[in-house]
Amino acid sequence: MKKYLIIGSSAAGLTAANNLAINNPDSQVICLSAQNNLPYNKCLLTDFVTGKKNLNDLFLPISEKVKIVCDRAISLDVKSSTVQTKTSVFEYDKLLIATGSSTYVPDFYKNILHCKNVFLFNSLDDAINLKNHFQNFSSSNVVVIGGGITGLEIANVLRQKNFNVTIIEKNQIVRLLHEKLAAKLKSILNDARIKILEDTQIQDFVINNDYLKKIILNNEILNIDILILTTGTKPNTQWLENSPIQLQNGYVVTDSNLKTSIENIFAAGDCALVNNMINNEKIINNLWPDAVKQGFVASNNMLEKNTIYPGIFPNIVTNLNSKEITISGMCDNSKKFIELNSKDNYQAFFANQNDVVTGYFSVGNNQKNIAKVRDLILQQKENWQELC
Ligand SMILES: Cc1cc2nc3c(=O)[nH]c(=O)nc-3n(C[C@H](O)[C@H](O)[C@H](O)COP(=O)(O)OP(=O)(O)OC[C@H]3O[C@@H](n4cnc5c(N)ncnc54)[C@H](O)[C@@H]3O)c2cc1C
Repeated sequence: MKKYLIIGSSAAGLTAANNLAINNPDSQVICLSAQNNLPYNKCLLTDFVTGKKNLNDLFLPISEKVKIVCDRAISLDVKSSTVQTKTSVFEYDKLLIATGSSTYVPDFYKNILHCKNVFLFNSLDDAINLKNHFQNFSSSNVVVIGGGITGLEIANVLRQKNFNVTIIEKNQIVRLLHEKLAAKLKSILNDARIKILEDTQIQDFVINNDYLKKIILNNEILNIDILILTTGTKPNTQWLENSPIQLQNGYVVTDSNLKTSIENIFAAGDCALVNNMINNEKIINNLWPDAVKQGFVASNNMLEKNTIYPGIFPNIVTNLNSKEITISGMCDNSKKFIELNSKDNYQAFFANQNDVVTGYFSVGNNQKNIAKVRDLILQQKENWQELC
């Protein structure tokens, strides 16, 4: 009987486990999880905190042939084809690394993590802690540290719940977005009366009885009831550090079959480095649908159905202050852009110096244009003029 072992039971891991169980029902499919809950959808955590979704809405379907084991992998021995946990050893014929990512906490913030009103926002446990805490507050001062998409989204929903929300960002919000469009997002959030402090470094904290009370900035002091850290992500791959698996900045390097540097071992999802469809360079995954697709492709290859992963097409769709925002492809400062602007609807098309379209940004309901622009971006021709 073939033994498939999957480390991680979320978007990538569970998709793979279900696919393996369906396609090889006589095999053993074991999926390890470092958490004590059943597998859940991380994308719904914000709705869970605000009460739009119940706990039961979050859980993911699991094939009855898949065995979920709540046990954390601590090391990998490729010679004996085994993964060790604190109490057990699991053997595999084929292994999938799908351990995802967690919040990266810079050293500066480590000495406030013990405070009872300081929260991370990456797991169901984080969301439950935050939700329990919110129930004791109304109209209080929330500070979100980190102006990436996750930070903006949580700030937006808390503002809708009437909290006074401030985002503190040491650079510009959504760092990889062209500065003019980051400014556009800022003004959308300002319209919702979310305060955004960019290029802002925190000088110090005031803590009293294990509660964070104040943040000291250069020229301002902020009173705090709740602080949420969304300071970036890091791959959950510490357990692989003494193994021969090739890592780059902690991410597992994969080939076009999502195979790692070691035979019979594959990787998928937020812990993996995969191809960017647009420029073929390596890119970090950070979206649920891409992790699902990778879990599917990796498990097909574990089943020895040669399947190529075409790469990620970077695409973020979000809703801020009731406006739909789309960021597709590459829209950074090194690119030029043209704008189409009508009331309630804004679009910007990006191109590189050779007039090759690289990206698209929109505010408003422009779903019908996205597939068209995506085709233009992937054609990689000098097609800028087609948009004018
Ligand atoms: C708050 C929030 C909101 C988001 N919203 C969206 C959204 O709206 N749209 C979108 O596309 N994406 C969203 N994302 C991103 C998306 O959730 C991730 O891209 C996706 O979850 C990645 O899936 P994954 O399977 O790679 O890893 P993860 O979901 O990170 O899961 C990793 C799994 O590995 C397990 N694990 C970790 N270490 C070990 C170990 N040593 N041993 C055993 N098991 C281990 C964990 O327990 C977990 O089961 C959001 C993320 C967050 C945090």
